[in-house]
Amino acid sequence: MALEIVQVGTPVLREIARPLSAEEIHSSHIQELIQKMAETMWAAPGVGLAAPQIGESIQLIVIEDKAEYIQNLTPEQAAIRNRVPVPFHVIINPKIILMQQETVEFYEGCLSVSGFVGVVPRAISVVVECLNEKAESVNIKATGWYARILQHEVDHLNGVLCIDRMKMQTFSTINHYKKYWHK
Ligand code: ZN
Repeated sequence: MALEIVQVGTPVLREIARPLSAEEIHSSHIQELIQKMAETMWAAPGVGLAAPQIGESIQLIVIEDKAEYIQNLTPEQAAIRNRVPVPFHVIINPKIILMQQETVEFYEGCLSVSGFVGVVPRAISVVVECLNEKAESVNIKATGWYARILQHEVDHLNGVLCIDRMKMQTFSTINHYKKYWHK
């Protein structure tokens, strides 16, 4: 069952989310929440969801970029975005420990800024240190679209939204983006 995704203006989206203890991660409450967040992300559909977006100010993220989503792009668009499928995984208490200075700019949206997109510059690669759903340490090296997803979702845990980093002149409804800018 999908949870409600809170929209921009909801205070929890601007809070600093608190980290989870290993004990909490193993609890049935958090394990069930992970499942519900996954279902909410798939239903939206989206490629990532952070706990503040379902009203929980905790450092928990789910991510999955499915091949079927990427098929909505032309091969050229997928290639220029360096976008490849990313299997489902859970990220807890993440820290971006390395961020390449070089950035790339693409249109980006957010399930909590529903109906709008805009151009957001993001580092082309990052290294993230975090825990998984078993409270095991994980090191993630990501480039391309996956690096963008990670930066977007980690921002959510710090009360930052993509509109804060957006080139505001490019802010557009999704319909107008598809009509005028998608190509
Ligand atoms: Zn978002």
